[in-house]
Amino acid sequence: MVHVTESRVVALAGGVGGAKLAYGLAQCVPSERLTVIGNVADDFTLYGLHISPDLDTVMYTLAGLANPKTGWGLAGDSWQMLDMLTRYGEQPWFRLGDRDLATHLLRTQWLAAGLSLTEVTARLAEALGMPGRLLPVTDEPVRTMVETVEHGTLGFQEYFVRHRWQPTVRQVWYQGAGDARATDAALSALRAADVIVFCPSNPVLSIEPILAVPGVRQALQARRGVCVAVSPFVGGKAVKGPADKLMGELGLGITPPDLIRYYVGLIDGLVIDEADRALAGECAVPVLVTPTLMRSDADKVHLAEKVLHWVEGLHG
Ligand code: GDP
Repeated sequence: MVHVTESRVVALAGGVGGAKLAYGLAQCVPSERLTVIGNVADDFTLYGLHISPDLDTVMYTLAGLANPKTGWGLAGDSWQMLDMLTRYGEQPWFRLGDRDLATHLLRTQWLAAGLSLTEVTARLAEALGMPGRLLPVTDEPVRTMVETVEHGTLGFQEYFVRHRWQPTVRQVWYQGAGDARATDAALSALRAADVIVFCPSNPVLSIEPILAVPGVRQALQARRGVCVAVSPFVGGKAVKGPADKLMGELGLGITPPDLIRYYVGLIDGLVIDEADRALAGECAVPVLVTPTLMRSDADKVHLAEKVLHWVEGLHG
């Protein structure tokens, strides 16, 4: 049975991993009480289009439109536009589906007409019937940059998609973060939240660029007692993607105690998988040990219920 909560819930989410738990939360939390704060640091411009991969993944997933095989893109999409680009001699390395393209066209047009990314995202999400509210953490440009051993400095999508996250990473930074400002909407959502959940997104590539926007850390530090993270690691490995490899290359560990150190001062509890139970005793904050692998929609809802129930108990 779904545990429907009266709490106001804010989730910080990147792309595929974050969207899975956000989907589960959306089944447990009334739409007007759920806010997802999304990462914009992997946004980029391609063929003149403003693409927001993480925001779109959350939007499509919560609206029930995501491609179930990949977790990103739209179910049932086709690739004719990419075929035509190839015919023109392009070597498209970023997969833009034909239907997906409509999202990028409208986003680009509305931004050019003067709407903020927050307004554009709200319009798109509403049209798709997405439950909850999706807020980009900032309306200003922040871009994740990756310094690699093999290819020098790469923009995030070049590292992640073009080079399939294979290069060895020396350093990651968030260009523009220092000058950006968190939106008032995102900050008020954090201030009003009864529960704040860091979804099991990549800590360095998805959560940190949200935290790096001035105002966010301070807002979280002011909210002790309500904030937990769900680990994206199961049995000492990332479920998918580069999180374990990358964090190793950066000299950051991925055990539960490492993750607690990484989020020090920001989280009041950590949710870890059964496979990592042996390390629960070494954690400096309360820990919930539960299955965290979300293979089905039922798994997503089950984990969301468990997390909500636990956090609500933590602060009495
Ligand atoms: P991206 O921007 O599309 O890479 O997505 P995120 O940063 O939101 O999520 C990537 C992280 O999600 C990876 O580090 C995975 O380990 C984690 N992840 C994916 N699926 C699951 C899952 O079912 N359970 C848990 N605990 N983590 C997951």
